[in-house]
Amino acid sequence: YGPELFGADRKNAKGFDLFDVNELRQIEVARGGQALTAAGPQIAGAVEGGAVEPSINPATGEEIGQITLSSEKDVATALEAATPWNAPMAERAAVLNRAADLYEEHYGELFQLLAREAGKTLMDAVGELREAVDFLRYYALEAGSLRNPARGIFTCISPWNFPLAIFSGQIAAALAAGNAVLAKPAETTPLIATRAVQLLHEAGVPKTALQLLPGPGSVVGKALTSDPRISGVAFTGSTATAKRIQAAMAGSMAPGAPLIAETGGLNAMIVDSTALPEQAVRDIVASSFQSAGQRCSALRCLYVQEDIEPALREMLIGAMNEQRVGNPWDLETDIGPVINAAAQAEINAHIATAKAEGRLLHQLDAPAEGHFVAPSLIKVGGIADLGKEVFGPVLHIATFKAGEINDVIAAVNATGYGLTFGLHTRIDTRVQEVADAVHVGNLYVNRNQIGAIVGSQPFGGEGLSGTGPKAGGPNYLPRFTRAAVSPEGA
Ligand code: GLU
Repeated sequence: YGPELFGADRKNAKGFDLFDVNELRQIEVARGGQALTAAGPQIAGAVEGGAVEPSINPATGEEIGQITLSSEKDVATALEAATPWNAPMAERAAVLNRAADLYEEHYGELFQLLAREAGKTLMDAVGELREAVDFLRYYALEAGSLRNPARGIFTCISPWNFPLAIFSGQIAAALAAGNAVLAKPAETTPLIATRAVQLLHEAGVPKTALQLLPGPGSVVGKALTSDPRISGVAFTGSTATAKRIQAAMAGSMAPGAPLIAETGGLNAMIVDSTALPEQAVRDIVASSFQSAGQRCSALRCLYVQEDIEPALREMLIGAMNEQRVGNPWDLETDIGPVINAAAQAEINAHIATAKAEGRLLHQLDAPAEGHFVAPSLIKVGGIADLGKEVFGPVLHIATFKAGEINDVIAAVNATGYGLTFGLHTRIDTRVQEVADAVHVGNLYVNRNQIGAIVGSQPFGGEGLSGTGPKAGGPNYLPRFTRAAVSPEGA
């Protein structure tokens, strides 16, 4: 795809360059304090509203806004009002492109919300807005090759770690195909979701085609995954929740109703003795600590060939020491907070166990206030020692001997997850061997293993990591249509 899709110069209508950090600093001055502070149900009918809860800035613990949760009646009103978007495909595509323009125009507010509500660093916020815009434009473009009608009403349940990009990607896909959407945003990031839905409505998405229902899984999620009027669910989040959704759908919906789930990962990287150490270290740091490790694609277990491990580890510790942990709104910050107190406590407990066992190799300092976790490097025997996905800035390191690569891959495959895998090598034949043997959705060679680009690196896993089809790829949209029906009736 060319620059018209991805906006190669990345300038918005006012000529603002999304990459220029000096201009980013001006946003802070120009836009400070203007972002949304109240969120709630956006439905095509009267809102009853349930409890009102505060939205908390994970870096400071400060209250940044208030969320009116959806009542059971609000969910019922939305379900009743939901109407598939039957405008011609070209009009739907034009509206989604207009929404992309509006997202770009409102970058200041969106960056601010991403930093304040989700703890995103400014650089992560820039990346996230780009990805959201790319999803809108990509699915608008792909809609042109759809041959089948919409399924009906789609439930979209999105995660807090990409509260704008994944939220918008699911919705854009369902809408591009002509469905009605009932969206449940993550409980910790409803302000961002509310603002995004306002912009989508402003762009021309009918209110009956897109409704937002903030609230807990036990009320909103349960209702939206167990109603026979729903014809499919797009979900990104934990593997355990995906299994619950699958069970709920099986008990209530037609057998053909798809669950499109993108779930957890237990991702590894192999660095063999032919790798370029400087390059590997840069990519290891990005893969494990960017976004405070809160990506399902993030590197969790690094395997380094034994003979180069001492030198590589020393270099890695040096690179870790260069990382700044702090307030995400500061341009100097590389690593922000984790999402909330519960996540912080869980990750810290994992680190404390490693420390008690003498396996904590290195740890950075982190601010005492706010939900920060000190980025840590932990020694393990192999990926099986992790047991579970530790969703934070924690890297585990293991070694392997020459001739043991197949054992490493067998251990990675045995986790049952299959999302991303990193390989640093300069042996050409090894790349193909690993690609053939490892069961993952995205294999990255001699680069970092995060930040898949919409349209050129479709993203998604297999096994416990998801159902497919991959988001941002050509097979995604057709899943939102009634694939069994062809327009010719053949
Ligand atoms: N698509 C993101 C990436 O490639 C990860 C998405 C997620 O964490 O759910 O890094």
